[in-house]
Amino acid sequence: MLKNLLKLFFPETCCGCNSLLLFNEVLICFKCRHDLPLTYHHEIPHNDTIKKFYGLIPLEFGLSMLYFHHGGIAQELIHNLKYRNQQNIGSLLGELYAKDLQNFEPIHTVTEIVPVPLHPKKLKERGYNQVDSFCESIGTHLQIPVNKNLLLRTQYNKTQTKKNREARQQLTRAIFDVNFSTKDENKHFLLVDDVITTGSTLEICAKALLKIPNAKVSILTIAYTQS
Ligand SMILES: [Zn+2]
Repeated sequence: MLKNLLKLFFPETCCGCNSLLLFNEVLICFKCRHDLPLTYHHEIPHNDTIKKFYGLIPLEFGLSMLYFHHGGIAQELIHNLKYRNQQNIGSLLGELYAKDLQNFEPIHTVTEIVPVPLHPKKLKERGYNQVDSFCESIGTHLQIPVNKNLLLRTQYNKTQTKKNREARQQLTRAIFDVNFSTKDENKHFLLVDDVITTGSTLEICAKALLKIPNAKVSILTIAYTQS
């Protein structure tokens, strides 16, 4: 009741297209929800996300939920999630994706979800890691614990969009490490990030996780973009 009254005086807008939300719409309007650029990667064994890592790291599976296009819904959603403290977007996307993944057998072999960490300085600036709400939501709906203490970011890296892949790899080589003990051995980790572009950050994180004896690693991102 109060919520509806508030909506009447302070109408909420869709996080995907900015149009006014109807009373029964939450965060995303029905049109945007219908138009979400889903990849259906979980139905494609050799999908674009896993192909990025062929010959680089052994993965159990790789998935991205959405295609990221310039000016598209995924870009708008991730922008709101990342810079406007709209963490509930991550929760909603996680809930929607967990439903799609229910019948994807390999997801049920995952023992822990591991978000790609932000550097502590960045975390302090932003106040939250933009992938955490997505991870928590996937974890809740698929009953998989989230482990935020395993991967550590040890060095601050500047935005590197203009550098080529090799230079970027050298820069980021040392910035992730794992803090593990014997209880972390023999697990299947699902490494999660917001957007995959070149895949170099995820590759370094995955390599760090693979230092753990008998670890298996898979990768999941909210969105996939062509590099
Ligand atoms: Zn919309």
